[in-house]
Amino acid sequence: MAGLIAPVARLIEEFSKLPGIGTKTAQRLTYHVLRSSTDDARGLAAALIAIKEQVDYCSVCCNITEAGVDPCDICADPRREVGRICVVEEPLDVLAIERTNEFRGRYHVLHGAISPIDGIGPERLRTRELVGRAAEGGVEEVILATNPNLEGEATAMALSRLLKPIGVRVTRPASGLPVGGDLEYADELTLGRALEGRRVVDD
Ligand SMILES: [Zn+2]
Repeated sequence: MAGLIAPVARLIEEFSKLPGIGTKTAQRLTYHVLRSSTDDARGLAAALIAIKEQVDYCSVCCNITEAGVDPCDICADPRREVGRICVVEEPLDVLAIERTNEFRGRYHVLHGAISPIDGIGPERLRTRELVGRAAEGGVEEVILATNPNLEGEATAMALSRLLKPIGVRVTRPASGLPVGGDLEYADELTLGRALEGRRVVDD
């Protein structure tokens, strides 16, 4: 683009790669960084690097954890029930469920959902780890709290088929969550009620 010097063009391009950021927003963010202090820019750059270098995955629940903290705080907490596992798609969903104060078990984070259109099958998610945990024994119930949309439903069905033969109770939060939406956007009360009123998954 004429009149655009290389470092500016480069940052606009990097911002544009972020989800939900179009060219206009990328330009606004770039000029914002340009106007901020060098210290603020350094802080932003350092935070971007740190999230890659200082974040790890919990070897039990696959949620993100601070580097060197494995198992994560929730898995290591002796007050959390070992017999109940709540399966979610993303780390943000764990935060949403924690906010409801309705769940005292542990989690399993899949890092995505099954989507045949995008070629994402169960093998691309942390499915094997989940089945392994359920098969180890001591697990009474697995709550499939995947998103109430097409991919989330398909994921719940596939997981239920894998988990039932192991002999664990497989449940799904009650309906009432906004259909087609994301768990993380549901309000605490609605999400809390849906968890409380969960029902056994039948095929
Ligand atoms: Zn964990």
